[in-house]
Amino acid sequence: EMSVEKHVFEADVAKLLHLMVHSVYSDKNVFLRELISNAADACEKLRYEAIVAPDLLGSDPAPRIVLTLDEENARLIVEDNGIGMSRDELVESLGTIARSGTRAFMERIEAAQSKDGAQLIGQFGVGFYSAFMVADNVDVVSRRAGSDKAWHWASDGKGSYTVSAVDLADAPARGTRITLHLKDDAKTYTSRWTVERIVKDQSGHVPVPISIMEKPGGEPAQVADGTALWTKQKSEISKEDYTDFYRGVAGQYDEPALTVHFRAEGRHEYTALAFVPGSKPFDLFDPDRKGRMKLYVKRVFITDEADLLPRYLRFVRGLVDTADLPLNVSREMIQESPLLANIRKGLTNRVLTSIEKLIDSDPDAFARLWDNFGSVIKEGIYEDFERRAQLLALSRFLTTAAEDKPRALSDYVKDMKDGQAAIYYLTGENLAQLKASPQLEGFRARGIEVLLLTDPVDSFWVTTAPDFEGKPFKSITQGAADLAAVAKENTTAASPAASPSVTDFVAFAKATLGEAVSDVRTSDRLTESAVCLVAPEHGPDRQLQKMLQGAGR
Ligand code: ADP
Ligand code: MG
Repeated sequence: EMSVEKHVFEADVAKLLHLMVHSVYSDKNVFLRELISNAADACEKLRYEAIVAPDLLGSDPAPRIVLTLDEENARLIVEDNGIGMSRDELVESLGTIARSGTRAFMERIEAAQSKDGAQLIGQFGVGFYSAFMVADNVDVVSRRAGSDKAWHWASDGKGSYTVSAVDLADAPARGTRITLHLKDDAKTYTSRWTVERIVKDQSGHVPVPISIMEKPGGEPAQVADGTALWTKQKSEISKEDYTDFYRGVAGQYDEPALTVHFRAEGRHEYTALAFVPGSKPFDLFDPDRKGRMKLYVKRVFITDEADLLPRYLRFVRGLVDTADLPLNVSREMIQESPLLANIRKGLTNRVLTSIEKLIDSDPDAFARLWDNFGSVIKEGIYEDFERRAQLLALSRFLTTAAEDKPRALSDYVKDMKDGQAAIYYLTGENLAQLKASPQLEGFRARGIEVLLLTDPVDSFWVTTAPDFEGKPFKSITQGAADLAAVAKENTTAASPAASPSVTDFVAFAKATLGEAVSDVRTSDRLTESAVCLVAPEHGPDRQLQKMLQGAGR
């Protein structure tokens, strides 16, 4: 008699499961994509490990995913001959939430109403646990490649699961078998027609062949051939093919905002297929700022940690496949390789130029893209010195002249007033606060446009970007605002310095405030308010000071 260990799910998993079990989300088909994508990942991981340990493949080298329909017992079985899971891996992978993105998803879903929450499930992949949308019990039997032990994980999705050893005879020779005991309203997933249609729709471009067995012990019939989509000619690939592939590779359920597919030839050869998502992935603002681009060598998945794009393009999803690296390249060696630097440069250029093209070809799509990812792209202004000018030109900003629709710096520069020497900006936490700032008065009176910057990243790039088209950036909260050089548009008030009572007041203020301020000056920047605080000419501006204080510096 083998012993059965009982485990309680980590709190976040329990919450996620509760959501799945009670999900009112209507398109439950997505669970199948999640399980197939895990099975395909497992096959790819095995292929990678087998490069240095070919014995792992044994007499069964070809990867496969088989779906078995068991109408009689209301079961759907998803089996792969991939890497499999050890006991510890089962507990770690199917008992905790490993992905930080999922955690962010949980937070969003809890904040949203339950109805919106359901939509969120449909929009973003939520992994293995989505099986509990259609099953009231799930059995996972797995044998890790090269191991002589097999394990059984079982749960009803209600707070706990069990793990026990199983006879090798009851387990796949290698890989993982997931058995879903279907809920009453999910019996349709034993129908050949239904399952085949879903697989073709959702997972037709998974790089591992998929077969369906109409009953246990039946003949498997192939429904997807496992051809890598990116190796096909662009002309052979439909928009639907791309979308389907994007959803698998990105774990997103929306439409891509941009698809970049090209073959680089010449000194280094590689194929890239990359997508800008149609909405923000949940891990976008993870502190690790990791990208998710996958590196393949001759169609073998190597790693998704190769930094194929700079951090400020981390929202781009997809892959690069090259024949110019040895298959047994170590993940550490990849980072050092000149080929990687070459790919990163080529891919970055292609992604940026594709985004630039969108400005003219589809302004609305570009506006949405900027709305989703502009705050990330702007990180590049201070991180990517070489492309700073290009990134500034791509960037869009709300301004005092355009409070709803962000505009380009080139338009700002075109509209600068006679005598205006700098691009003025004001940073702060939100638009309403910025618009109410007394600092703006003198600028408004002169019709000088001011950038209204509310992203945290803005406080950083403005300190490092010296200029755009030769015009320096200048905070209006900082130093003398050099407004005297620009004429007011409709002026009645006399120059403030002219009045002796103002001079008296300045002397009084200086004496009263003493050490608390470094200076008290008359200024052209106000027209209605009596006083405002400004930061010194050099050093951090007020918003950055606040942020640094907030960060405990
Ligand atoms: P993700 O795939 O994004 O990591 P999932 O919830 O889909 O998240 O899966 C969690 C983890 O469980 C996977 O990362 C993997 O380690 C493991 N896993 C799930 N299914 C399989 C499988 N068929 N074979 C091997 N490992 C698996
Ligand atoms: Mg997964």
